[in-house]
Amino acid sequence: MDHAATHGRLSAANRDFIARKHRLLIDGQWVEARSGKTFAVYDPASGQQIAQVAEGGAEDIDRAVAAARRAFEDGPWSRLKPTERGKLVWRLGDVLEAHADELAELEALDNGKPISDARAVDVPFGCELLRYMGGWSTKITGQHIPISAPGEWHAYSMREPVGVVGQIIPWNFPLLMAVWKIAPALAAGCTIVLKPAEQTPLSAIRLGELIMEAGFPPGVVNIVTGDGTPGAALAAHRDVDKVAFTGSTEVGKMIVQAAAGNLKKVSLELGGKSPAIVFPDADLSVAIPGAANGIFFNMGQCCTAGSRLFVHEKVFDKMMTGLSDEAAKLKIGPGLEPDTRIGPLVSEEQLQRVTGYLESGRQQGAEVVTGGNRHGNQGYFVQPTILTRTTPEMKVVREEIFGPVVCAIRYGDDDLDRIAKEGNATDYGLAASIWTRDIGIAHKLARKLKAGSVWINVHNFNDVALPFGGYKQSGWGREMGYEAIELYTETKAVAALL
Ligand code: NAP
Ligand code: MG
Repeated sequence: MDHAATHGRLSAANRDFIARKHRLLIDGQWVEARSGKTFAVYDPASGQQIAQVAEGGAEDIDRAVAAARRAFEDGPWSRLKPTERGKLVWRLGDVLEAHADELAELEALDNGKPISDARAVDVPFGCELLRYMGGWSTKITGQHIPISAPGEWHAYSMREPVGVVGQIIPWNFPLLMAVWKIAPALAAGCTIVLKPAEQTPLSAIRLGELIMEAGFPPGVVNIVTGDGTPGAALAAHRDVDKVAFTGSTEVGKMIVQAAAGNLKKVSLELGGKSPAIVFPDADLSVAIPGAANGIFFNMGQCCTAGSRLFVHEKVFDKMMTGLSDEAAKLKIGPGLEPDTRIGPLVSEEQLQRVTGYLESGRQQGAEVVTGGNRHGNQGYFVQPTILTRTTPEMKVVREEIFGPVVCAIRYGDDDLDRIAKEGNATDYGLAASIWTRDIGIAHKLARKLKAGSVWINVHNFNDVALPFGGYKQSGWGREMGYEAIELYTETKAVAALL
């Protein structure tokens, strides 16, 4: 599909949006970058340019942080009652929902993901998350605390918003990641500088417009598009109280170092190499599509992707046949086409990276069960791929590929400690899934796995109420649920001698 065809397919609302100037949101105003620079955004299905977007730099981060600081300290925002704050966050969920089709389409265009997924997952999850977090605004409380020292005391704890937060997000779920970050921070009463990924800035810019439409005061949410430069400036900024990052473990470590200057609070949601473990008694009619979804959903560009599939030898061949059939059923095409199930990867860089891993797997002796190559020669498509005969030392088994590529690993015993050890043999610890009819076994194994999320007979399952985050090098802190509110608040203890 060429550029003209892409455009012809777009709704009037998005044609209009794409044609606008895409600037930075600072203090409630849309402004050019101080440098005047812009960068190109590409359609990953065609490789063609779709827009130019303001390229923010460190000086724009300074302006945005100053606006966020003013809004936090003096603005009407900091004086809003919890019900009013909660209502605004909830209202943003309603505004998003009113624009659901348009946002799903924009996401499919910019990221390349199937529009059916954007409609079914990215947008509704974002709406639900805003409402869920908005509900917490009125429930952020402290405790009365009894004091043992002599005298009469009145002591209590309270939770206060942490302050100005920098939020740096990736390109795999551009809108959802933006909402995932801003919803709990807003519910807690923080102000924000958001840095979207350079590959996919469009839905965050549209979200910025909708945030203003919903009635948030100027400076509460600021959005600075650009590459790693504004991200690094944000992480290092002396007047930022907390930085929240989702992305690669490599950049996560740089964030920690940058944050050390003023010891700002840090939360990180990083990579994964999550095991999916299939027992011989698993219901294969569930495990086959489940494991396929675990790796092929969003073209494998999920931090929780089930990229190491451990299958008991009694069901290994059936699983391989079933998975190959599932892979064959997935229609590959541009995200904007309604029946597409596998869209392009997000960028040329990711295409090179993923095909590089396929090459490395072959060179190191892995066998390709299905897929194994780029699809077509236009856009950044990769075939859904299953590799077998891998060994634990291979790069494809050790490293996060972030593409539709699963390593299927055969095992032959039922020793849970050994299975757990193999599942845990990674620097990551984000998620794991267990596939069995024996629920006792499943819960025993769940305790042994070092992962922030353990799923039983399902993979890639997230809910607004379930704490989400990583063990080991998969991150610090938990998002979703009340734990997300804790991430954006400080506890103050107040003690009075009466
Ligand atoms: P990345 O570099 O970690 O990018 C994530 C975000 O961090 C982007 O907004 C990025 O900006 C920004 N950034 C880059 N360098 C920075 C720095 N020094 N300081 C502060 N922020 C910085 O991810 P990537 O390069 O796009 O992807 C590489 C690999 O990361 C993938 O192949 C995958 O393995 C992993 N990844 C993981 C997730 C996840 O959900 N955990 C998501 C995406 C990627 P720019 O976009 O401008 O570089
Ligand atoms: Mg990068």
